[in-house]
Amino acid sequence: MKLLKSRILQEAEIPEPGVLKVDMFLNHQIDVSLLNEIGKEFYRRFANDNVNKILTVEASGIGIACIAAQYFGVPVVFAKKGINRNVGNDVYSGKAVSFTKCDCPVIGVSKRYLSEEDRVLILDDFLAHGSALMLLSDIVRQSGAELVGAGIVIEKAFQPGGKKLREAGLRIESLAVIKSMDNGLIVFDE
Ligand code: 5GP
Repeated sequence: MKLLKSRILQEAEIPEPGVLKVDMFLNHQIDVSLLNEIGKEFYRRFANDNVNKILTVEASGIGIACIAAQYFGVPVVFAKKGINRNVGNDVYSGKAVSFTKCDCPVIGVSKRYLSEEDRVLILDDFLAHGSALMLLSDIVRQSGAELVGAGIVIEKAFQPGGKKLREAGLRIESLAVIKSMDNGLIVFDE
């Protein structure tokens, strides 16, 4: 997605090796018109997949998912962090291992909002090592719903998540794929 890639090139920062900071339009301040184009693009790619629910994880995924959901005309469910695993049988849950944060909360989704009747599209801001996406996929698996695929705003292809999950059979559509970002130089895959 050309517009997204040029915003990354113009504004993104690399605070430490391997980490891309896009707080200025995605992760802290949100450029809603850019998010609108992102939502439109996700819809273009998954329009024929009969998605009836979008799943994401709080917090950064929620804005992305909500704007995309307006194009799909479906509800958004977000996995909540800090869910107690012992809440009983009412929650699908798992534990994420975060690349950027040291605290790795248990996240969960109430069984009221996902079931085997659903066709789910997962949306998230980044794909790095794939832990978040793997966990969300597992929550969909636990629910018995059909996982249509995943839409990612920025994939860092030099980290192994995308390759691993595609090899496992997951359809992943990433709007900007970063091949490398060494010495402050961001290079896209295509
Ligand atoms: P993964 O589980 O694929 O390693 O990472 C997924 C999550 O970690 C994303 O949802 C995002 O919140 C965070 N993340 C991973 N890499 C980056 C990065 O380079 N920049 C930012 N801002 N977040 C990242």
